[in-house]
Amino acid sequence: AIALVWLRDDLRLDDNPALRAALEGGYVPLAVHVHAPEEEGGWAPGNASNAWRHRSLRALDDELRTRGSRLRLFRGPTLQTLQSLLAATDAEAVFWNRRYEPAVEARDAGIKRALRAQGVRAESFNGALLFEPWQVGTRQGDPYRVFTPYWRTALAGWREPRLWEAPAVWPALPDEDAVPHGVTLEALHLVPGRDWDAEFWQRFAPGEAGARAALASFLEQGLHGYGTRRDVPGCRGTSRLSPHLHFGEVSVARVAAAVRAADAPAGDVERFLAELGWREFAHHVLHHFPHTADADLNPRFRDFPWAPPQPRILRAWQRGRTGVPIVDAGMRELWRTGWMHNRVRMIVASYLTKHLRMHWRHGARWFWDTLVDADLASNSLGWQWTAGTGADAAPYVRVFNPVVQAARFDPDGAYIARWLPELGSLPLPLRYAPWEDPAALRRAAPEYPRRPLVEPAEGRRAALRAYAAVAAPG
Ligand code: FAD
Repeated sequence: AIALVWLRDDLRLDDNPALRAALEGGYVPLAVHVHAPEEEGGWAPGNASNAWRHRSLRALDDELRTRGSRLRLFRGPTLQTLQSLLAATDAEAVFWNRRYEPAVEARDAGIKRALRAQGVRAESFNGALLFEPWQVGTRQGDPYRVFTPYWRTALAGWREPRLWEAPAVWPALPDEDAVPHGVTLEALHLVPGRDWDAEFWQRFAPGEAGARAALASFLEQGLHGYGTRRDVPGCRGTSRLSPHLHFGEVSVARVAAAVRAADAPAGDVERFLAELGWREFAHHVLHHFPHTADADLNPRFRDFPWAPPQPRILRAWQRGRTGVPIVDAGMRELWRTGWMHNRVRMIVASYLTKHLRMHWRHGARWFWDTLVDADLASNSLGWQWTAGTGADAAPYVRVFNPVVQAARFDPDGAYIARWLPELGSLPLPLRYAPWEDPAALRRAAPEYPRRPLVEPAEGRRAALRAYAAVAAPG
């Protein structure tokens, strides 16, 4: 009998529980991907994400073909597509790995009900997380809102994962031609117009082989010293596994096991696992507080006096023209490579939400469209954490000073010089705050903004004034 293996954000063969269930259940697996962005509840994947998925789907098809199989692509609506495939192939089962975005969770539950009602074996598995969002809770059975106790409880329940390797050969379809071929990859129109993404692929190789290579190179060169180097954007101190993890090109269980088995200082290993823990926590929060994709976790901010939307200001931030070098360097790294270092994500997000007092939603949307690792759980959490309106104890009153941050985390100014080469000739510390010497700035970089949109000290004062308006008395 045939089982449909419905692949979504688990674009891999290795350690794929849905595929495993099909093979171990004695089924002939039929790998399908259904393109249905309109079913994502207002969070249809953005341009960078689509560009990545295009390549990842092709890579997966290549992997499948080495095993005598292939990937079949279809356009939604998903339920009807699966139903007509079941009818055309006489398949008896549909297996998939779970996703946790609120709209997708609801859709998938509906699909499971409908398929079961027609007598189909429909089952979902955990292929994306170390811990299911509902598996970790307080002693009272409530969800966590703060990372540290969440992760402590999660780790206490840690079990060595049972990793699974896809066999090199598996049963072939009885009649290939009887199965609908679906549409071509090009017909999904995932590739962005213009050559915007060309530079992405100098840094990243989407697909399972690319994910494995990124993990191997991190284990060899990045894990040792990760605890200190992870915060320095000017060096290659992190794994850059985030898009691979988002698209499920490597299983997080495989990553965690490899890191734990590596010959590296315990502190570095623990620190890296805690970052995977943040990803787990983000899914925990989004699952239990589904409104946080669009609204604050902390209701106090409902009446916060955000600045009215100002397209000119927002565009300056998006294009890296705020006049604050560390912010502009980050925004240009994002535009050019589809990725930004975590420390810099915090700095640019803080500048937008605190200094410019724009609602974090504007920043989250831009990230959503331009990040190759755009992920509803991690992005919503990251923005609210930085804006100080979300989970965790970080208070709104913590306002990053971008000049102090730059001096601390880009101590040799290499990161700024890399993404804003026009400022590379400015000495330190002027490179962090070039408006301090207007003549030198004009000589070095006549095109660069003379003054920052908002100066750090002035922005901080305005942010704290706004906060006083919503802070509880006392
Ligand atoms: P590493 O340091 O190598 O960490 C390993 C893995 O742990 C990452 O690949 C990622 O999966 C996970 N991880 C690390 N830090 C975090 C974190 N703070 N939150 C959740 N997971 C984490 N991450 C996304 O994957 N998608 C997003 O859309 C996203 N948006 C963000 C928005 C803001 C405003 C902020 C402050 C952070 C955001 N992050 C997001 C988290 C983090 O910046 C990235 O996961 C990280 O920079 C990825 O680089 P890396 O793979 O080299 O990380």
